[in-house]
Amino acid sequence: MATPDVIKPDHGSARRHFIFTDEHEQLRESIHRFVVAELQPHAEEWEETTFPDSVFARMGELGFLGLDKPVEYGGQGGDYYCSLVLAEELAHAHCGGLVMGVAVHTDMGMPPILAFGTEEQKQQWVAPAIRGEKILCLGITEPDAGSDVAGIKTRAVHDPAAGEYVINGSKTYITNGHRADVIVLVTKTDPDAGYDGFTLFLVPMDAPGVVREKRLRKLGMHASDTALLAFQDVRVPESAVLGQVGKGFYHIMWELQGERLIGAAGAVAGAQRVFDRTLEYALERRAFGRKIGHFQVIRHKFAEMATKIETARQLVYTTAWRFANGEYPVREISMAKLHASRIAVEVADECIQIHGGAGYMQEYGIERVWRDMRLNRIGAGTDEIMLDLIGRSYGL
Ligand SMILES: Cc1cc2nc3c(=O)[nH]c(=O)nc-3n(C[C@H](O)[C@H](O)[C@H](O)COP(=O)(O)OP(=O)(O)OC[C@H]3O[C@@H](n4cnc5c(N)ncnc54)[C@H](O)[C@@H]3O)c2cc1C
Repeated sequence: MATPDVIKPDHGSARRHFIFTDEHEQLRESIHRFVVAELQPHAEEWEETTFPDSVFARMGELGFLGLDKPVEYGGQGGDYYCSLVLAEELAHAHCGGLVMGVAVHTDMGMPPILAFGTEEQKQQWVAPAIRGEKILCLGITEPDAGSDVAGIKTRAVHDPAAGEYVINGSKTYITNGHRADVIVLVTKTDPDAGYDGFTLFLVPMDAPGVVREKRLRKLGMHASDTALLAFQDVRVPESAVLGQVGKGFYHIMWELQGERLIGAAGAVAGAQRVFDRTLEYALERRAFGRKIGHFQVIRHKFAEMATKIETARQLVYTTAWRFANGEYPVREISMAKLHASRIAVEVADECIQIHGGAGYMQEYGIERVWRDMRLNRIGAGTDEIMLDLIGRSYGL
């Protein structure tokens, strides 16, 4: 074929990344249709009420809660990228709290049960979770220990005579904590054993002694429920141990990697969505006789934002590719989480600025994106912890 004389830039091409296939794109379309038709219209209402449990049931019915989970538990058996597609498309719900609640269920609760659980535990909790009949939450953070996971105080004491463990302690900021049927709970079983003294448990939330104390109010993510939980002499059978006794710290550090990567993908998608909405606004809103997007200063804001979003996206996709191909790239996951969280907040902030007064008004929903996104720099490991992990990975 002859080379054309004039090669023009192609700004309109789809730019599908190499990790995605036609099947991923079909999946994307079907999730997108569902999100726009069934979730987005309720976003305002759910900011007031939190989203209903029926969202899990409906997503389970559609097969969206087990996209990358094994077929034997009712999942679709897809690859890791299907999970990224879900995280990206859920951003169109315009309901950050919902995205977080679903991610806690699919990408924080299920993975450790699938990775470390017994067959019985998988059948008991993962299979109904994929159907959307049981809801999962994850309990790491405590009132006195968040970043410092090793500083948690929740104790599980073995009672060999009864074949049980007795759990006492408290957890805070627990997403889905009010609605969940089971919690993946991080405890200390041997306070003198350092990192080898932690054990995970699967604790049914209706077990005697589990107290859902308070529904916590927060800056953003209003559609999610966030709980303060107490565990008062909660007795669970030995079969409730998840994974190996004494290896809970390592188990949960592994879990956090998947959680951070999915969170990063969600942050990039949220940033892209607020960018797109703001672009529309900049092409409609007029000042001084022209569309505001035609002022060079505004045009450059878009250029800066687009470049930030694209760099974060490439980092997330490349890291996801490494993760999905058997590597355990903790440094790059930390970088992706850090960078995506930061740029999402920066983009949301700039989008408020471009909207002017409208950006500050609730009815436009732009300020909400900023409030929701702000969590990304704190949850699942703060910016400072990500920086420390990256720095330490160089032997510092
Ligand atoms: C809306 C929401 C939902 C959440 N959902 C869940 C959930 O479902 N399950 C769960 O277990 N947790 C959840 N969390 C908790 C979240 O993961 C923690 O808030 C987070 O890890 C930070 O812990 P912290 O709040 O105790 O802050 P702290 O650890 O007290 O940190 C306070 C400040 O000190 C800094 N800091 C701490 N240590 C260091 C260090 N070594 N070097 C430098 N700086 C440091 C931090 O970066 C931060 O700026 C949620 C939090 C929120 C806000």
